[in-house]
Amino acid sequence: MKKAFTTKEQVEKIAQQYPTPFYLYDEKGIVENARAVREAFSWNPGFREYFAVKATPNPVIMQLLKKEGCGFDCSSITELMLSKSIGATGDLIMFSSNDTPAEEFVYADKIGGIINFDDITHIDFAYEALGNRMPETISCRYNPGGVFQMSNGIMDNPGDSKYGMTKEQLIESYKKLKAYGVKHFGIHAFLASNTVTNEYYPMLAGQLFELAVELEKETGCDIAFINLSGGVGIPYLPDQEGNDIYEIGKGVKEQFERVLVPAGMGDVSIYTEMGRYMLGPYGALVTKAIHEKHIYKEYIGVDACAVNLMRPAMYGSYHHITVLGKEDAPLDHVYDVTGSLCENNDKFAIDRNLPKIDMGDYLFIHDAGAHGFAMGYNYNGKLWSSELLLKEDGSVELIRRAQTPRDYFATFDCLPMFSELDKVLKENE
Ligand SMILES: *Cc1c(COP(=O)(O)O)cnc(C)c1O
Repeated sequence: MKKAFTTKEQVEKIAQQYPTPFYLYDEKGIVENARAVREAFSWNPGFREYFAVKATPNPVIMQLLKKEGCGFDCSSITELMLSKSIGATGDLIMFSSNDTPAEEFVYADKIGGIINFDDITHIDFAYEALGNRMPETISCRYNPGGVFQMSNGIMDNPGDSKYGMTKEQLIESYKKLKAYGVKHFGIHAFLASNTVTNEYYPMLAGQLFELAVELEKETGCDIAFINLSGGVGIPYLPDQEGNDIYEIGKGVKEQFERVLVPAGMGDVSIYTEMGRYMLGPYGALVTKAIHEKHIYKEYIGVDACAVNLMRPAMYGSYHHITVLGKEDAPLDHVYDVTGSLCENNDKFAIDRNLPKIDMGDYLFIHDAGAHGFAMGYNYNGKLWSSELLLKEDGSVELIRRAQTPRDYFATFDCLPMFSELDKVLKENE
């Protein structure tokens, strides 16, 4: 069963200072989990988790992870800037982007990040953008094509995905990069998303290790690291069993010893780029019930909406809901829990068994710590919520204030009529 990492009493107190809706992150959970990941891979001296910044782009959260030895996987110039702002530069940055603008290659290189090429054509594109030079360390992204299938039926479809290069292109890329003076090489692949099975990383690792041996033989390039990327999932459903990171680490080690060690490549570093697994369970959207509506179905209207958490609307994702203070009450009501967007898919839950919800109740929407706030948008003029960190000592730190109407209108400051908008804003501030 899923348990909220806070209580009704605690949220009531927090809400006096920071009105709902807000994101709440659990410092203790984040730190303990990051330590477990590190320990699970401690058999590999060069291991590093590059936290996927896009999952939770908040500098305070990133600082917590940096303290635990993480680097940062960035996909855009703003994520690179965020990393630099907390002192993460050089080999603490993995720049795994695709369809990359020239200026982003330039910036990533300027702060010393490791560039991970998504395509063979990006090599000359970047070479030119960087002033006819190439950094000493470069990674390339692999796409094996076909279908990636695991024994529990989970599969994904690399052959249908826009990322990475074919094996032939990978070999050609390495030769090309070597000619451009690159000395250390990495291989990267992301073949399946939100895998709730201990099998994914070991299977992927087995494939990439075999590829690495072949590549080193064929090109003579020094493979310095293999990046298993993201895709390790979390159990969103209450009765689903989660991954065991120690089992996963052990499984990767077995492949390492099977393939790389006999090939004399036992010095290769293992990198990961997890986002969801690092943060998902340790963040929640906390929202208040403000309306109930009885028509053909029973609706509970809350003060958050899909702009604050888009996954249910976009993917039909299940996010478990705990009504705080009613943890032990019978689930004898069936509700759709909705936000206020003029969009009928703005529902956090559909036909969900929940305890009777009263107006003013606080709903804790679980597993929103990754790809939650980050996917926020401003449709219907709705604003982003605040983000709060629940510290190990029980205190709360504001780590992003809520957006205001002034933030929302800020980019109209190019208009002569902005002064009118400014007046309206001032009347209301
Ligand atoms: C999104 C992404 C990740 C993180 O994925 P999770 O599913 O959150 O673990 C890692 N690497 C790359 C290149 C990504 O695009």
